[in-house]
Amino acid sequence: MRYNLLFDLDQTLLDFHASEYIALGKVLQQNGLSYSDRIYDLFKTYNKTLWGKLEKGDITRNGLFRMRFGYIFEKCEGDSSSLDPLAVNSDFIQTMSENGVLLDGALECVKKIKEEPGNTAIYIITNGVTINAKGRIASTGLDRYIDGLFVSEDMGVNKPSAAYFDMVLDRIRASRESCIVIGDSLSSDMLGAKNASMTSIWFRPEGNIETAMASYDINYTASSYDELFRIIKDIISA
Ligand SMILES: [Mg+2]
Repeated sequence: MRYNLLFDLDQTLLDFHASEYIALGKVLQQNGLSYSDRIYDLFKTYNKTLWGKLEKGDITRNGLFRMRFGYIFEKCEGDSSSLDPLAVNSDFIQTMSENGVLLDGALECVKKIKEEPGNTAIYIITNGVTINAKGRIASTGLDRYIDGLFVSEDMGVNKPSAAYFDMVLDRIRASRESCIVIGDSLSSDMLGAKNASMTSIWFRPEGNIETAMASYDINYTASSYDELFRIIKDIISA
């Protein structure tokens, strides 16, 4: 059987936070503002709160973009009086998209899978902003090894909904049984695989692993890329 590996992107192959850290520093400093680990931590925490509000429908996407930079300007040293938070936000997203950061061993793992005999396809399944995901994938060279990219912004549906996975199946013209979902998140990747009745591999599991495996019907866990590769190889050659 031809297997379709559906890889989550962030904290499974790419380091989202490392790109965010680099991009925030670049845009603030270009605008004459100070940058430090503390500023990044403040941004990250506030941003998370805002995404929670957006998910509940309390604020708009543009509201989130404006508020996160309005907030961070106040925390930085330097004159931000003439800066437009939305313009700086656009620069930030663009800069992030040009500064993808691979997790150690991710590229080698994907390359090894593609070199295995067995006609395996690799797709990326990710919730997020298209330009950001696409740019980071291209800037790391990961694009050479993947057969397709499914970003929630394009699709109008998110992981873990069954509708998201149905749309992926439809586009790749594959059976459910041929798909393996690989990801670090219980709430989007593992729950998504469960909702879509697909085989799942929980990457870098943490917390109460046994309980989580039982409640999300997780098939395998992998704590490293070596382990992940062995599991995939076993499934493919079985
Ligand atoms: Mg992830």
